[in-house]
Amino acid sequence: MIRTLALSAALSFSSLAVGPALAQSSVTQPSSGQTATAAFALPALPYAAEALEPAIDAETMRVHHGRHHKTYVDNLNAAVAADPALAGVSIEDLLGRVSTLPTAIRNNGGGHWNHSLFWTLLAPVGQGGEPSAELTAAITRDFGSVDAFKTAFNQAATTRFGSGWAWLIVKDGKLQITSTANQDNPLMDLAEVRGAPVLAVDVWEHAYYLKYQNKRADYLTAWWTVVNWNTVNRLYAEAQ
Ligand code: MN
Repeated sequence: MIRTLALSAALSFSSLAVGPALAQSSVTQPSSGQTATAAFALPALPYAAEALEPAIDAETMRVHHGRHHKTYVDNLNAAVAADPALAGVSIEDLLGRVSTLPTAIRNNGGGHWNHSLFWTLLAPVGQGGEPSAELTAAITRDFGSVDAFKTAFNQAATTRFGSGWAWLIVKDGKLQITSTANQDNPLMDLAEVRGAPVLAVDVWEHAYYLKYQNKRADYLTAWWTVVNWNTVNRLYAEAQ
């Protein structure tokens, strides 16, 4: 159940990306008869680097996407290439059995998947829409109110010690907030709480330090203004 939901969410956000999708592809080289694993690819941002200002500044976006995310992609490709048995395996399949794989795949596969989702969860101020009636009803049912949900989500994001992520997931038909360390995510078999992500915020310092320094709470306040509720609504609908 969870795996089906996760796959569905991943497919939907990879289809939004301008660049290559998350799916790993294999290219057969007729000359040698060997199969070379094509790279997982860095998806293009679905907006300009400066489009989220003033909430998230252009330089942070450029470094975050072009260097941090790219490094996760490069390191993931290297880790996958080191084991021929992993050629052509989807990122979701890797994450679902990541406890059996090298730590490099946990860190960089998680980093790639998390950031690919994160970019689609952001939109310029005024362009992200609002929570749908269905999502609002579910938030009210499971958290009491939208405000109470935001307070609880901020709490999870601010109290995640060190680097990590806060998540809104669908688990067993209900919304639930969770957080993960480093680049772990709720698709991983070793996650404390597994489910289908519908909203996520990156609370690594690299996501906000240039503009907000140590003030994670201020970053979160600004981040809410650029949430792409249209994506959240769609992921929620697909997780039902
Ligand atoms: Mn990040």
